[in-house]
Amino acid sequence: MSTPDAEPHAPPPEFAALCAQVGIELEAEDIGRLAGFIALLVDANTRTNLTGVRDPAELWTRHVFDALTLMSVLESADGPLDVLDIGSGGGLPALPLAIVRPSDRFTLLEATGKKCDFLEHAIASLGLSNASVLRGRAERLGHQVTEPALRGRFDVVTSRAVGRVVVAAELCVPFARDGGLVVLVKGAQAKEELAEAKKALHMLHAAPAGIVETPTGRLVVLEKLRATPKMYPRLDGEPKRAPLGVTGPPAGKPA
Ligand code: SAM
Repeated sequence: MSTPDAEPHAPPPEFAALCAQVGIELEAEDIGRLAGFIALLVDANTRTNLTGVRDPAELWTRHVFDALTLMSVLESADGPLDVLDIGSGGGLPALPLAIVRPSDRFTLLEATGKKCDFLEHAIASLGLSNASVLRGRAERLGHQVTEPALRGRFDVVTSRAVGRVVVAAELCVPFARDGGLVVLVKGAQAKEELAEAKKALHMLHAAPAGIVETPTGRLVVLEKLRATPKMYPRLDGEPKRAPLGVTGPPAGKPA
């Protein structure tokens, strides 16, 4: 493994406490690589806006730990897993997961070129042979069926902070294989957002598989039931502009 170009930051005691709370056990080597990831984020954040959180201790507790909460869902599936993360930004949740789950393969899909540059740099610096970057928009790549096939391929599709459940579902579900999972990292409005997405999930051929409460939020888990109709996802920006099957005001907002 090559050394990241910035100084690593040790995790604060709260990080260990959070991990203990949900039964996450990490090797010293994992902690070292996660610290390397944080050092890269802190360094790159001085030039590119990758995350609003700048304090390394907060990056451990609010970002890295939040990403690691997905481990419980990944552990429940039969591996090794082919995982796609949509809208990876600065690498969350995919890069912490790629560090602690070296047997799974992670593809990080991101639309913004500068963020893709950072992700490629981070993957190379951390020596992550199980992670790669896919440049482009989910609305287009979700229709790709050859060289390489992306649609209907992945065991698990993850996404954090890419939109309401109804929006993220249209972007994510087409990439999952039949019987595969979509895991959306959400906050307090998870239940309302899932209710809002009921019609969309039916149209996309997916169904709710549960909401997992974590110390930092909620994971909305969906199951892909069968192939998504070819018309989804719709054109660039359409899932967000006109959320599928939604007629009223957005979930969580008064009418
Ligand atoms: N997942 C990261 C996190 O939790 O910190 C980044 C979240 S950021 C708010 C949303 C990211 O999704 C941005 O980097 C944006 O470029 C990307 N994104 C939004 N819509 C997208 C789309 N349709 N296809 C690919 N990437 C998208």
